[in-house]
Amino acid sequence: MKLFIDGEFVNSERGDTFEVRNPATSEVIGTAAKGTREDVRRAADSAKEAFRTWSEIEPLNRGKILMKVADLLRESEDELSVAITKEQGKTLKEAANEVRGSAHILEFYATAATHMRGTAFRLSEQGKLANVLKKPVGVTGIILPWNYPVGIMAYTSAPPLMAGCTLVVKPASTTPLTSGLMAEKFTQAGLPKGVLNIVTGPGSTVGEEILEHPDIRKISFTGETETGKHVMEVAAKRIKRVTLELGGSDPMIVAGDANLDLAADAVTWSRFTNAGQTCGATKRLYLFEDIADSFIQRLLRNVERTKVGNGLEPETRMGQVNDAQ
Ligand code: NDP
Repeated sequence: MKLFIDGEFVNSERGDTFEVRNPATSEVIGTAAKGTREDVRRAADSAKEAFRTWSEIEPLNRGKILMKVADLLRESEDELSVAITKEQGKTLKEAANEVRGSAHILEFYATAATHMRGTAFRLSEQGKLANVLKKPVGVTGIILPWNYPVGIMAYTSAPPLMAGCTLVVKPASTTPLTSGLMAEKFTQAGLPKGVLNIVTGPGSTVGEEILEHPDIRKISFTGETETGKHVMEVAAKRIKRVTLELGGSDPMIVAGDANLDLAADAVTWSRFTNAGQTCGATKRLYLFEDIADSFIQRLLRNVERTKVGNGLEPETRMGQVNDAQ
């Protein structure tokens, strides 16, 4: 995966790369460009230039491009699913669900944003009319995690794109390859050059430059809570807007009158899907005492039946965690 800047796949300015490994086998499955701060500046320049025209395009026409990307994702579900499984580790079925969910979310925003409205109201004492207009913020920086590399790219990119913003995206360093496939789909769908830019490379340089760059006016970050605090601090000093999606700690309560088979299936799915790497996954259980033993038996039975393995193998029910660390 090279960098994707101004509609072209290009090397990083220093020409450095890093290896990407399949978490199930440790095999090297590709390389990605190791971007630098200067590469982020190039990407931000391209996004700033593209903003001038993209922000003026009718939302309906922006939406048509996202609809086309959704179609292309569905057409290439098999190719994308294998690519997700190989670099992320989840099962093929989970990867296919991620592709379908991504197509759906692009369609959702493609249509929802055509209904964006401001408001108008009369100021009570002055007999004047006030208009509230919604305008795109500008260049938006998106820092992605590794648990749903295609899905989170889709649902963090679609809203700003539909609002008329242009993007500088940084994928997580263990899952950069699928973002290149996404760039191909957006290009094929007719996204103008510079609207989407992707800079692969370390959080400590590429990520930091996205946070600091004066022309990147909004940050969307998904990842660790401590990193999120840092993102907010840096953004606050530069009066940038932020959207944060951080580590979850989600409890589930199983009440005494619950259907225990259903509840055990729900907890098993929630805890172990995507090898447990989901922000909204059940992290803690509260059980009513009178059903606790029988619930735990059902849960253990489910867990014992869950075959862990390489996500590419059809019998695998739980794939690999994304990296050993
Ligand atoms: P990180 O916050 O380290 O990484 C997330 C993204 O931030 C990656 O793209 C990373 O780049 C980048 N990043 C790291 N440091 C910086 C920085 N200083 N400035 C800008 N960007 C930076 O999270 P982890 O991957 O270590 O995940 C740890 C925990 O985070 C998980 O256990 C979970 O609790 C939470 N998490 C939540 C997710 C969710 O969906 N809500 C998704 C993933 C994680 P690089 O990959 O190059 O280091």
